[in-house]
Amino acid sequence: MYKINEIFYSLQGEGFWTGTPMVFLRFSGCNLKCPFCDTDHSGYKEMTADEIVAEVSKVGGECGRVCVTGGEPSLQLDKGLVDALNGAGFKVHIETNGTRVLPEGIDWVTVSPKVDVEGLKGDGTVVLEKADEVKVVYLGADVEKWAGFPAKWHFLQPCSCRNTAETVNYIQAHPLWRLSLQTHKYLDIR
Ligand code: SF4
Repeated sequence: MYKINEIFYSLQGEGFWTGTPMVFLRFSGCNLKCPFCDTDHSGYKEMTADEIVAEVSKVGGECGRVCVTGGEPSLQLDKGLVDALNGAGFKVHIETNGTRVLPEGIDWVTVSPKVDVEGLKGDGTVVLEKADEVKVVYLGADVEKWAGFPAKWHFLQPCSCRNTAETVNYIQAHPLWRLSLQTHKYLDIR
């Protein structure tokens, strides 16, 4: 059984896949507590892998991608569920804080490190050694150590749409980074 907070169909709002239709599979629970966390992932329903795949297929039709998120999805996601989602025709994306080793077979890994967040509760040490994209929430600190993290893309994202101008200024001065906006918030979609 997996503790599932919600399953819904929307567009990816952030990072490389912005604008792409995806099913969101949100797991309940996180091993960290960030002061700015704006996701209520506490509630859950217990579901089997078969029930999850059936619901993802039902809401997502033939979109072909599921974004596994949380909370921290790596606390629960295992190879059996990845294989089941792949078997139903879904590429599996994950949004993780990078603190835990991931099961094999994930098609796209987004690491959003939280280790440098002021006021963080929990051990945010990143153990993953590579990713497809790194997405750092910009809080005004020096983020250059993440510029060297092995990934195809490096995104810097304002914190809850609040400090966009500051983030743009940082990217202009450090042009390896690209801007990621939480476009779902601007569009008022989920
Ligand atoms: S790691 Fe993500 S889900 Fe967990 S507390 Fe931080 S922002 Fe929230």
